[in-house]
Amino acid sequence: MKLVLTADSLIDGTGAKPVKNGALVINNGRITRVTTVDKLERDSGKGVQTIHVKGGTIMPGFVEAHSHMHCSAEEEAYEHTMNDTDQVLLMRAVKAQREALLSGVTTTRDLGSKNNIAFPVKKAIEDGVIPGPRLLVVGTPITTTGGHCHMFGTEADTAEDVVAALRHQVKLGADYIKMMSTGGGFTPRTNVRRAQYPAETLAAAVKDAERMGVRVAAHCHGTEGVKNCVKAGIHNLIHSTWVSANPDEIYDYDPRTADEMAKKGLWVDPTLAFDFIWQDKGIPVKQTDKTVLRSDPDRRYEILKDMWDRGVKFVTGIDSGMAHVGFGDFAYTPQVMVEKAGFPVMDTLVSSTKTTADCLGVLDETGTLEPGKAADAIIVNGDPLKNIRVLHKVDTVVARGKVVKQGGKALV
Ligand SMILES: [Zn+2]
Repeated sequence: MKLVLTADSLIDGTGAKPVKNGALVINNGRITRVTTVDKLERDSGKGVQTIHVKGGTIMPGFVEAHSHMHCSAEEEAYEHTMNDTDQVLLMRAVKAQREALLSGVTTTRDLGSKNNIAFPVKKAIEDGVIPGPRLLVVGTPITTTGGHCHMFGTEADTAEDVVAALRHQVKLGADYIKMMSTGGGFTPRTNVRRAQYPAETLAAAVKDAERMGVRVAAHCHGTEGVKNCVKAGIHNLIHSTWVSANPDEIYDYDPRTADEMAKKGLWVDPTLAFDFIWQDKGIPVKQTDKTVLRSDPDRRYEILKDMWDRGVKFVTGIDSGMAHVGFGDFAYTPQVMVEKAGFPVMDTLVSSTKTTADCLGVLDETGTLEPGKAADAIIVNGDPLKNIRVLHKVDTVVARGKVVKQGGKALV
């Protein structure tokens, strides 16, 4: 089965200049040519499906690094997670995968859900039972007793317990390991400002994960936890919010630790669209209790830009499933990177595709439009280099060679 996508422009995700009147040729689910429309004539013929989007841009499908598939993304996300039956959580997860796919996400990583939900959903997508992006899962996050997201099911306190817990997740099929290195806003009675694990425990996890060929991502809000993660060589830092241990301060950013992140080649998923999504949806942010995570978005964007300038590699995660952060909200992330944090547009597009695929360990398979790779491509209505917001307008989605959305209409 041959499929040809054509549009006014093609951005291949490598950072190369856009191709005018680009064409993407797909054969049996794989990209076979990246070319231009005028070089295409001899390719067309019977049995070829062609999709042309006037004024559109062909891009790699988005690679999203941070979702929680069974969380509801509603105001009561926490209560739903605590009280819903597994059957309801499973239905939420199935709905979430479809939503993500139709927003142009062709690869996603679930960064912590209950095992009895995450693993079967991954299998159902792979078997073609339900629609969804290529899904990588961590299983349950590993946290301290009563620590952040303890309700997902895996509590481990000592280095030995942590190593045993991560081996168990790998045994069940985890593609990545998630640890909670500080408390989190989602879990009452945890402390976002303080570390849950010493650096030595995180380092023991990294060492054993590498032995088994998986990487470790760790949630860190407090600077104490960020520093522990960097010291331990955690492959992928999540949030990296630099929250001060002092409740009277918001941030205590340490540029030298950021230099260390860059030097070690650690990826950071700053979940930077969170505040903006709430603002954009008109949700008031409650910032009263000093133990709860407060934020100063403008200062945070400055910190992130400084990290970027120091060479830190950013990946695109939205933390979907948390209150008001929907599974179809991916495009907010590159939008905020460009409009608020001031990252260059083309670099932001590369982050949203290639860099995140690299962090997830799937760059050989997806993340750029290059011959031999899986056909994971989208066409957006407009030119993202001129206006990043066109990433919200996804006309066509092709996932692993299958057209799942066309002309803005869902086909699955
Ligand atoms: Zn999260």
